[in-house]
Amino acid sequence: MIPFVDLKTQYLSIKDEIDTAVLKVLASTQFILGDEVKALETEFAAYCNADYGIAVNTGTSALHLALLAAGIGAGDEVITVPFTFVATTAAICYTGATPVFVDVDPVSYTIDVTQIEKAITERTKAILPVHLYGQPADMEPILDIARRHGLVVIEDAAQAHGAEYKGQRVGSIGDIGCFSFYPGKNLGAYGEGGMAVTNNPEYAHTMGMLRDWGQERRYHHVLKGYNYRMDGIQGAILRVKLRYIEDWTEARRTHAAQYDQLLVESGVGIPAVMPYSSRHVYHVYAVRTSQREWLQQQINEQGIQTGIHYPIPVHLQTAYSDLGYQCGDFPHSELVAKEVLSLPMYAELTSAQVSKVAQTLHNILQGVAA
Ligand SMILES: *Cc1c(COP(=O)(O)O)cnc(C)c1O
Repeated sequence: MIPFVDLKTQYLSIKDEIDTAVLKVLASTQFILGDEVKALETEFAAYCNADYGIAVNTGTSALHLALLAAGIGAGDEVITVPFTFVATTAAICYTGATPVFVDVDPVSYTIDVTQIEKAITERTKAILPVHLYGQPADMEPILDIARRHGLVVIEDAAQAHGAEYKGQRVGSIGDIGCFSFYPGKNLGAYGEGGMAVTNNPEYAHTMGMLRDWGQERRYHHVLKGYNYRMDGIQGAILRVKLRYIEDWTEARRTHAAQYDQLLVESGVGIPAVMPYSSRHVYHVYAVRTSQREWLQQQINEQGIQTGIHYPIPVHLQTAYSDLGYQCGDFPHSELVAKEVLSLPMYAELTSAQVSKVAQTLHNILQGVAA
């Protein structure tokens, strides 16, 4: 069996360092925030080429605080995509603002930059592009539109640690970048975690207060805040793992290149790498096929686990029906959601496993052709 994710193999490969780091936190009793989290903030911000990092409890919280720091609230509109994980939309709704969807580009699966300006109204305050699957959205036109209309740009980089747009690390291209350290993400904690990075000292200060009850100092609450703090143990674990992320990312990219080569003539579509995307980090390697349900069943029966990211675009989710969108409103998002199939993708895959997955897919598709 080839699993869709394998967190155990990676843990075993760094077990001594992780266990030592965790025990050190236990001994220090710095269970919440503390020195390890502070050091992680510095190190991860530097990794993103940003000046400040604010560690929080989830990627969703990072998005929520980024929006709040940018002054977004009730009556405002935030432009984003419906083809993403639900958290992107949820975070906008937490602030009281209204998500306004723009369809994705059918090749990159990231925001279609040619549709953004049509969606701007006098209430629009921000654009929230998603670097889906580890591929950057087309940031230059997004920043240009934002500049011309006075909008804030918040990057949802939850799937894109270390990805690069024209040589620039994502997260520090817009005003604020938001990352998730959910265990299955490219940099994953052993529990929940997230971080917002920015070059703006005011945003950093505001987010730092908001994540810890809006305190400027203890029991001096200058803002109505939240309990969004990161655990000390997660900070220590993430610091160990940050030392390996470059190796792990390169391993993902090598697996992706091998998949590309083996699948290019198999009958499924392979993921496009956009010309502006100087480093796709393959959080997800999704092939595209009009026979998705059938192919998924066949490949699963042969012992290969797959996933679907994501089967229902957010504008068609029951929870967000109050936004008033309908089937047909975002045709590319709707079609892509029906056709993508995510193959196993993690650093610890072996070349033989990648080969096996590709060969199995090939054989299934050949069988039909025969
Ligand atoms: C994982 C994810 C989030 C949310 O992160 P959590 O840490 O699970 O809260 C937000 N946006 C995208 C695109 C994600 O993949």
